[in-house]
Amino acid sequence: MKNLQHFEKREAEVYIPFDAPTSVNTSVADSASKKHNQNLVGSQAISDNHNVANRIRNYCLHLLAFILTCHAVFGEIKNGYEKNIVASKESLKILHARLLEDESITPAQRRTVQSTIATLVEHVSYFELTESLLIQFKTIAPELYAEIDTITDRLGRPVNVYIKFVPIDGTVVNAEGTTYMDRSVYDPDTYKSEFGEFTVSVKVWIVPRALLVLAHELGHVKYQVPNLASYFVFHKNNYHNTSTSNSIGHNIDDPSGKSAIEYAKTFQKTYADFLKLSNSRVQNPLVILARLKKDWSKNT
Ligand SMILES: [Zn+2]
Repeated sequence: MKNLQHFEKREAEVYIPFDAPTSVNTSVADSASKKHNQNLVGSQAISDNHNVANRIRNYCLHLLAFILTCHAVFGEIKNGYEKNIVASKESLKILHARLLEDESITPAQRRTVQSTIATLVEHVSYFELTESLLIQFKTIAPELYAEIDTITDRLGRPVNVYIKFVPIDGTVVNAEGTTYMDRSVYDPDTYKSEFGEFTVSVKVWIVPRALLVLAHELGHVKYQVPNLASYFVFHKNNYHNTSTSNSIGHNIDDPSGKSAIEYAKTFQKTYADFLKLSNSRVQNPLVILARLKKDWSKNT
């Protein structure tokens, strides 16, 4: 998949999900160093090198603990197709090989295998397309991406945001983008979706402006996750009996709608700036999807 190589390289980079607040790092390291220094008062036998080595080791241990804590504290943007993706890719390889190598396969078995391959190709292609578009979004607008990638609810608990790019008309609500809002019956601040508690589900149609639509939906997420309890009440009072309307979330005084429009505007501006500096531009997702399906269908 030559068209995805650039983005795949970026994906392999070591990524720390936010700019680590160095003041915290420093204070932790400083206090550790002070304590360590106090322990050394009066000790002539310990060399400066040893002292420095210990301080570096302490600093590294604190830094490591800090990074691990950060990973544990924040949610993430996730690919909505990630479930069973490794198994799907492996099965695809095995079934392609079977079609090539198994000479005893009957016509009926061959049709069954081909049908299973078609299902697996769909799963893998939509997963790869979503990966590609998320990486493109992150490359163009890293700050917007990071805000959602580290989002927490009102009580500071991490919330994962699952994103799926889906076929046109592949959503219950007739809209290019949908953010599904629901909450736990036990806790009005706990967001939930078909992916479980502390998750949000976002679906975006595979259209040429899919990344702009994604930015709009992430604007809804940005407001709704930390304000779920109060916004749920607002939503109920404003949008009753309109469950299939595509204008939900955009009454004139709806703060979630305002946030969505703001996010989309920021993304548009960021993309315009990106185009000034880069030769690359966003590819049409429909073209990427067609290429992925072709590649994954190949019997090689
Ligand atoms: Zn909206």
